[in-house]
Amino acid sequence: MIGKEQKLKLNRERNVRYRAKLTPAQKQAKYLKDRVRLLEQRKQRISQNDVLLTEDKRICSRCFKKKSLSEFSTKGICKSKYTDMCDICRIKIYKSEAYTPIFMTETWWRKKAYCANSCFMQRIKRIKIGNITNTFKKVSGPDVLQLYTKQSAKCVYCDKDLSDGMFQIDHITPLSKQGTHSIENLQLLCIECNRLKHTTTDTEFRSLLKDYYRRLSQVIEHEDKEPHG
Ligand SMILES: [Zn+2]
Ligand SMILES: [Zn+2]
Repeated sequence: MIGKEQKLKLNRERNVRYRAKLTPAQKQAKYLKDRVRLLEQRKQRISQNDVLLTEDKRICSRCFKKKSLSEFSTKGICKSKYTDMCDICRIKIYKSEAYTPIFMTETWWRKKAYCANSCFMQRIKRIKIGNITNTFKKVSGPDVLQLYTKQSAKCVYCDKDLSDGMFQIDHITPLSKQGTHSIENLQLLCIECNRLKHTTTDTEFRSLLKDYYRRLSQVIEHEDKEPHG
C-alpha cells in the first residue's frame, strides 16, 4: 500500500522524466495546450461561481471543492470581492516554500527578481510606455544579489541597513520618464525612500531631499524659539 505523499512523489518524478524527453517544439505545444485548458477551466469556474453566489457558495480555484462563502476571505481583488482560493488552500500556499522561500537562498533572490519583473509587466499593461517592450529583459535573481552586494546592503539615499530583506527594487530613471527595465537602471531602496521617491528621477529626488532638509531645519529652529506646550 503506497501512501499519499509517496504517490505524489512518484507522479512528480514520472512527469519530470516525461518532460525531459520532449523536444522544445513539443514543450511549447504542451505549454500552450495546458494554458488553454486552464483558461477554459477558469472561465467555467467564474460562471459557476456567479450562479453559486445566490446559494452563498463558491468553488475554490485550487482544491475545486464547493464551499460556503464564509470559508473564503473577502480581501480578494476579483470581481466578486471574495478570494479565488479557500482559506485552507491559501494558508497552505503561503506556508509553502515556494511562497516564502528560505531567507537569502537562491529561490529567495529569484522571487525578489520575479516581483520586480511582474510589477513591470503590470505597469506596461496599465500605461503605455513607448517601445520599452522591445528592450525588455527580465531581471534575474543573481542580478538582484549583485545589486545588493554592490550597495553593501545599504539603501542608496539613507544608508539604512537592508540585510533584513526589507527593500524594494527601484528604477533610477522611472519607467514613466523613459527609463528602462534593466539592471543598469535599477537600485535597491528601503521601503520609505522608495515611497518618497515615487516617480522622480535620481537627480530630482536628491534635490527634493535637500529641499526637505532646508524646510526641516527651519521648522526645528522655529520650534526651538517658541517651544510648544
Ligand atoms: Zn481550496
Ligand atoms: Zn532609504
